[in-house]
Amino acid sequence: MVNMSKATLPTLALPYPLILLPSGRITIPVKRSIGETLSTLVQESETQPIIVAVPLTSPESSLYQWGTAAHIVRLIKPPARNPKQPYLLSLNGFTRVRILDTNPDLPTVDSGIVDRRIEYPPTESPPSAESVVKFKAAALKLLDQLAKDTTQQAKRDTYNKVAAMIEEISYVRAAWMADVMVSSTNGEYSDKLEFLSAADPDDRLRRATTLFVKQSSISEVSKRIAQSVDESLSKQQKEFFLRQQQAAIERELKNLRRTSSPLGPPGNMPKDESSGNSSESELDNEEAEAEDMADIKSKIEAMAKDSEERKMAVREWRRLKRIPQGSVEHGVIRNYLEWLTAIPWTGSSTTTPSTAVETLRDRAFLRNAKQQLDSDHFGLEKVKKRLTEYLSVVRLKALQMEQEAKEEQRSQQLQLTIIPKKSAKAGEAHTLVPSLRQPSRKTVKGPILLFVGPPGTGKTSLGQSIAKALGRPFQRISLGGVRDEAEIRGHRRTYVASGPGMIVQALRKAGRPDPVILLDEIDKVGQSNHHGDPAAALLEVLDPEQNHTFNDHYINVPIDLSQVLFICTSNTLETISGPLLDRCEIIQLSGYTYNEKMHIAKNFLLPKQLHANGLATEQLTVAEPALLHIATHYTREAGVRSLDRAIGAVVRFKAVEWAEHLDADNESGVSIKEYKDVVDEDELEGILGIARWDGEESDREERRGVVYGLVVTGMGEGGILPVETIAVPGTGKLMLTGSLGEVIKESGELALSWVKTHAYDLCITAARYQDPLKTPNGMDIHLHLPSGAVKKDGPSAGIAMTCAFVSLLTGACVPCDIAMTGEITLRGRVGPVGGIKEKVLGAHRANITKVILPWANRKDVEHDVPVEVQAVMQFSFVRTVEEALESAFGKGALGWRSKDMLMESRL
Ligand code: ADP
Repeated sequence: MVNMSKATLPTLALPYPLILLPSGRITIPVKRSIGETLSTLVQESETQPIIVAVPLTSPESSLYQWGTAAHIVRLIKPPARNPKQPYLLSLNGFTRVRILDTNPDLPTVDSGIVDRRIEYPPTESPPSAESVVKFKAAALKLLDQLAKDTTQQAKRDTYNKVAAMIEEISYVRAAWMADVMVSSTNGEYSDKLEFLSAADPDDRLRRATTLFVKQSSISEVSKRIAQSVDESLSKQQKEFFLRQQQAAIERELKNLRRTSSPLGPPGNMPKDESSGNSSESELDNEEAEAEDMADIKSKIEAMAKDSEERKMAVREWRRLKRIPQGSVEHGVIRNYLEWLTAIPWTGSSTTTPSTAVETLRDRAFLRNAKQQLDSDHFGLEKVKKRLTEYLSVVRLKALQMEQEAKEEQRSQQLQLTIIPKKSAKAGEAHTLVPSLRQPSRKTVKGPILLFVGPPGTGKTSLGQSIAKALGRPFQRISLGGVRDEAEIRGHRRTYVASGPGMIVQALRKAGRPDPVILLDEIDKVGQSNHHGDPAAALLEVLDPEQNHTFNDHYINVPIDLSQVLFICTSNTLETISGPLLDRCEIIQLSGYTYNEKMHIAKNFLLPKQLHANGLATEQLTVAEPALLHIATHYTREAGVRSLDRAIGAVVRFKAVEWAEHLDADNESGVSIKEYKDVVDEDELEGILGIARWDGEESDREERRGVVYGLVVTGMGEGGILPVETIAVPGTGKLMLTGSLGEVIKESGELALSWVKTHAYDLCITAARYQDPLKTPNGMDIHLHLPSGAVKKDGPSAGIAMTCAFVSLLTGACVPCDIAMTGEITLRGRVGPVGGIKEKVLGAHRANITKVILPWANRKDVEHDVPVEVQAVMQFSFVRTVEEALESAFGKGALGWRSKDMLMESRL
């Protein structure tokens, strides 16, 4: 953001008379076009995206000057069978903003999502004591009245709880509380609009106070009226209620008489439902209801005969018919049936027939698949090669299965024709019919792919390309932070507000039994706890031996997932459980070099962003030095996600300029505002703000006791990490800080022991067997790894720690453009470590010019590190700690007492 208080955000006009206040929540239906725009917004952003909800001043449009910035917390797509239905959008308001584009004839509700300039109000100062006291009094009075008026205990408890909160609330939070209260009380629209514009906390409290006083008096008056008409009203209500019941009973009786088959003849329901003499609006409702029910019924009828799902559906359907409409139970069963029939069951005639086999049969399949992968992704040659192999295995297996299925079917048909001749009873031939479904149960079981790598390296988009190549629908399930088994497997139906789990939801959305489902971030799935074991549920989903009868607790009928192609992604392998890892085939994506990033930015990200923001390719070019500047100074990541975002910001900025240029053109016929179609490096600061990574290298300094190590973070990103040591007066102890795990602590001790044993040889002590920490003066060593809040573990910091101790005790320094990684043993050997490619790429991004690595990792560098990085970096492969020291401090920089030492260790 260029400036904290001004920004451009997507805005949505709320239909009149709806209003969303900060801290309020709203759910509204939105048109399909808006829903689709929002859906891309949601997909593109990692967190909950923000939009501004702006109310209208009157029913005939015209936007209000104030709106509320809100998080999109939910967006529900209409069911595929009923695409005309609107999307449902839930927003959580969090702060008021002022709309700067207040052009009065701006189109509003119908214009969809429009990017507008907005301004955040300045940071709030605490309100005055007087207005807080008045506000509290008015709010407490209103709550008290509401609590007295309600007959429901639960509501009364809530009012009392809120009242207790208000009594306790601090001055700083009072204005926030006013927002909470006003958004949940009824009030007039105009009052609420004015309240929305009250950016000043004092003003807001005053308005809230007036509003509550008004509300209290209204409720008092209406109570008096209510009491006086109470008797006559209750009589009327009783009569109304009884009439309703009578109508429902009559309807049921009529249904019972007409229903002859278990499900009744198709199509008779709508007639029945509409034949009542109810009022017009009721009739509309009933027609829609009947249509839905007919839809469910036809889907049940389409289910494969004798299948479990059909049996269950028929049983529930019958129960549904017995239960009066409008009861809670009715709603529960109806909801269940909707889910049950929405699943694409194999064998059901309404399930969209799979075109997968046709795609696979095509001789050009592999060529097309390669083209697909190439057109979506730059580079990644090894990964693409592996994916093409994978796709050919999937293809071969599918074709083989198809062949087997055909043969089996033929042999069964043969039996069917023979048996009736032998046996006179027709019934026996009948018993063979179910086994005909068997072949469709057998399906493709390719290996499960697991893409491992830092964010933005293309894991998700590779999954999408595979789905496109196979001609199957793609669904993504995000497992980040799933703690509860029920999120995967659903809640049992006895549970209030129960529903199916993520797998069934994805299947329903896909609408076919053979989608590609991407299980995103499987390393972030919670382990076994009192909410069950989500990892175990995932295992069942992924296990080809079990997943043809996957059991969702809500659906409670075995679901066949064997045709689904699962692909998993994760940032690291460390937190994935062994059995889960066992079922996966790992494909590493370690990150891109600057060269690769430039290609991706120029050929993929920029065109994509131009298209998304409505600019043509010739309207904007970003000069190559500018792109490189963004990649090096504004982002420093392994993948290209932030790069994509930064390019998006540049393109949006230019899109606004372009629009202003056009506007100026229209008004006077002459263009006042210049538009330049190239973005140069020197303009970036004006667009993206101050570069985040400027001058980071100059912060690095060559210091005694400080050495740079190489790490791979939990997100799979490589980078450098300083190992800092200082000496403090003490008694020879080692202090280790920085959220260190057991293994890394042990390697710290190991390193110190090695240095102590070689202290004499390194001229740190004057005699053998002297402890350098005790003579001449007693001291403790404190070793710290910065980013103290991030957990660190692993043995790979061994040589960095040794170098840090040697530097601290000898006074020699390691240059700050050298970084190192390697495990050490007590004998002073340097052992191999993992994540070499990530670490080297991370070091390259951090402008390190020389890396010290274990000798045994030589091959990793040759095979995995891109040639262009190999060309500009110096690699020093070491076998022993002595070699590492020599390489780090420079030849001869450490005064070894005996030169034979080095020779000896090399032998
Ligand atoms: P991940 O799932 O690994 O976090 P994504 O698949 O979401 O990453 O990728 C982020 C963006 O970067 C996507 O828009 C994707 O198309 C793009 N991207 C990543 N790698 C490449 C590549 N090699 N070529 C082209 N675009 C890429």
